[in-house]
Amino acid sequence: MAERPYIVGNWKMNGTRAMLSEARAIDRAAQRYMKVEVAVAPPYTLIHAVHKEAEQIGVGAQDCHPGAEGAHTGDINSSMVADAGAKFVILGHSERRQGHGESNELINAKIESAIESGLRIILCCGEPLDTRDAGKAEEYVLAQIKAALTVVEDPAERLTIAYEPIWAIGTGRTATGEDIAAMHGAIRRLLDETYGEEESAKVRILYGGSVKPDNAREILATPDVGGALVGGASLSAESFLGIVVGA
Ligand code: PGA
Repeated sequence: MAERPYIVGNWKMNGTRAMLSEARAIDRAAQRYMKVEVAVAPPYTLIHAVHKEAEQIGVGAQDCHPGAEGAHTGDINSSMVADAGAKFVILGHSERRQGHGESNELINAKIESAIESGLRIILCCGEPLDTRDAGKAEEYVLAQIKAALTVVEDPAERLTIAYEPIWAIGTGRTATGEDIAAMHGAIRRLLDETYGEEESAKVRILYGGSVKPDNAREILATPDVGGALVGGASLSAESFLGIVVGA
């Protein structure tokens, strides 16, 4: 695992201001566990409020529109989330690729605009179950990442990758240690080839998909796993911190 594990909570479409007490509890605990880098990505509506509460944890967005400000009713762009206090943005999550038809081209446009706004990127990748069963998981995931790397020049400063097999998200199923190690190893080799080993070593590769306090320690001890992207278990400070203390 990388020297300082990175544990990120993805709140998805959850959270009203009542969640701010959870954010405060996470922040207080993170001040005592400095060996772990802790962050949360609340919905847009809470980014600024969580940012104001947070002394230690990083705050990010779950998506952004790729365009400049203008006539896009209902959209929020990267400079707006940065202005609200976000330091990073999750892009390419399978719930956006599948639920909103996001293509690699659109994701690249979002990456470029996020970088321009000074944000770091957590780029999500992951295969559906039939692709894994067909023995094509690695090819599929590496193609997603390769497409994105064409627009990332300084990965050490900008990039985190989150490998999230789609069939493990919110299902209670996790990939086996062997599968995780194999995929993370393949992603690392791609980063080594693209940027050179020194630069590649600074890019953390997170695992995501049903990470919970009771499986986090084992997952985080897997070679080349630099942290976790946590959905459901990040919604209460107690379970999220159970993952943080195990890291
Ligand atoms: P999960 O979600 O932990 O609820 O499986 C992870 C994610 O989608 O980032």
